[in-house]
Amino acid sequence: MKALDPIEFKAVSAAVSAGARQKVRLGDMLVATGLITGAQLQSALAEQKRSGRRLGRILIEDGSTDEESIARALSSQLQLTYLELTLDMVSVRVVKRLPEVQARKFRVLPIDEIGDVVRVGMADPTDYQAQDEVQRLLNCEIDPVVVTETRLNAVLDRLYSKSEEITGFAKELGLEMAGDPASGDGAANATVDDAPVAKLLQTLFEDALRSRASDIHVEPQERKLQIRFRVDGALMIHTEAESRIAPAVVQRLKLMSGLDIAERRLPQDGRFVAKMRNQPIDMRISTMPTQFGESVVLRLLPQGAQGASLLSLERLGMPAPIFQKISEFISQAQGMLLVTGPTGSGKTTTLYGALAEMNKPHAKIITVEDPVEYRLPGINQVQVNDKIGLTFASVLRSTLRQDPDIVLVGEMRDRDTVETGLRAAMTGHMVLTTLHTNDAISTPMRLLDMGAPRYLITTSLRLVLAQRLVRTVCQECSQPHPPTAQEESFLRSVLGAQHPLAGLQQGVGCANCNRTGHHGRHGVYELLDMSPAVVHAFNNDDTGAYMAASRREIGELSLARHACDLVLAGRTTAREAMRVIGRVVE
Ligand SMILES: [Zn+2]
Repeated sequence: MKALDPIEFKAVSAAVSAGARQKVRLGDMLVATGLITGAQLQSALAEQKRSGRRLGRILIEDGSTDEESIARALSSQLQLTYLELTLDMVSVRVVKRLPEVQARKFRVLPIDEIGDVVRVGMADPTDYQAQDEVQRLLNCEIDPVVVTETRLNAVLDRLYSKSEEITGFAKELGLEMAGDPASGDGAANATVDDAPVAKLLQTLFEDALRSRASDIHVEPQERKLQIRFRVDGALMIHTEAESRIAPAVVQRLKLMSGLDIAERRLPQDGRFVAKMRNQPIDMRISTMPTQFGESVVLRLLPQGAQGASLLSLERLGMPAPIFQKISEFISQAQGMLLVTGPTGSGKTTTLYGALAEMNKPHAKIITVEDPVEYRLPGINQVQVNDKIGLTFASVLRSTLRQDPDIVLVGEMRDRDTVETGLRAAMTGHMVLTTLHTNDAISTPMRLLDMGAPRYLITTSLRLVLAQRLVRTVCQECSQPHPPTAQEESFLRSVLGAQHPLAGLQQGVGCANCNRTGHHGRHGVYELLDMSPAVVHAFNNDDTGAYMAASRREIGELSLARHACDLVLAGRTTAREAMRVIGRVVE
């Protein structure tokens, strides 16, 4: 073989190294490691050409492989370290050297610094352009490591939480108000520039959506304004700001929702729609005068396609026998399905899941609610308004004159509504509604207490579904968890002494779950079928016999049993199960 002269050699070697950097293609690499087949790659490439989406995403979504396998394959092919990135690994000082926009754009995160070299987590380490750009922005040498995009985003979301930005707006606002003597009496002044307040609120709403918050609490306290989010049922402090900005924030919220800004001594409620990430979010607002000013609670009600697409009975995760009985009920023409449980136990979501199944052109559906929580196309939804006499009972009576097939009554709070609802169920309508009781068994008796005649209850009431929500174990940080003595005795009391206790999981806390170990919630259900045996016992006015008959009827379809099954499936923790079943001993 002819030797290359030095100049030619140099050119070839430059071409080789440039080629090595540019010709690495994710698809080829995954085929080379045997992670996917050539056929899978071809079909994914065709899809990429058609949709323009990223190849990795397509392969994960079509089930060819998963994110972690891709990351590990990349790391072995490129001889880079694969890192299971968590928030604890990240040095905040190093992170701050790269603005959020760039981090998200290039899908990278500076992790820490060793000497003069910054270790950078990359979701796509084959993106050399990004590497060069990040190196330029950080103005130092970088050491790329492979991380999954999911972990990268979770950490980015936590690190670049908007609370700092919000605190900044709050400071800006506080400074403006300090120079304005008129604001000293607690009244927000119209001359104060709205811009910082508007920015503060918009950022706050975006952060609430990103954190999956269901409620935002704006609470003026003696020395500060506290803002908290409720996520998966638990409250957490989001921002603390100077108390003097509170009136401006509250006034802006009241203006947005059309409340009377001059009225600060009486509670008010209303609603407005905020647009975030092109998604309309319905906000329900309620104000309350407290000793340090008006406190405001905002409830976020996601609307539109995303909200409605989540509604389906099947996705609620009911035990199969309960799901089947409810599906059978839905295919009937009349009777009442009553969902019970405390506030925030997901009752409305269940009823809407049922409604979504029945929402067909041949069925007329009317809902009577306070507030209207979801909007479904093709359904007539009426908002109760006590102030102008539109009560549940009065709206329900008018509703029945509108010839509906199915009526949803948001909540039965009084005798009038209970009786009207039961009568509607008896006279050929299907009635879906909710009641505040702790379990299924006590529900028929509660209806009696509220003044409903016994015969009306037994002829109309078909199914009673009791429910709770438990927080689910975070998938990102879940680990096997041997039950404690207390947990074991709880599980045994429900499942029996012989039942094997395996499969328990617990989240240790990570960036994905805000260090709570929990991410998302799951329904726990109990079903009482008003069978002939139960109805017979109830009609005899013998409480003991009724309790025994309904306990037999519920059998294993109880709240406690479902909760324990979820514990053994590793979906939730024994602690959560004990909390919702009401046997927590702290
Ligand atoms: Zn976690």
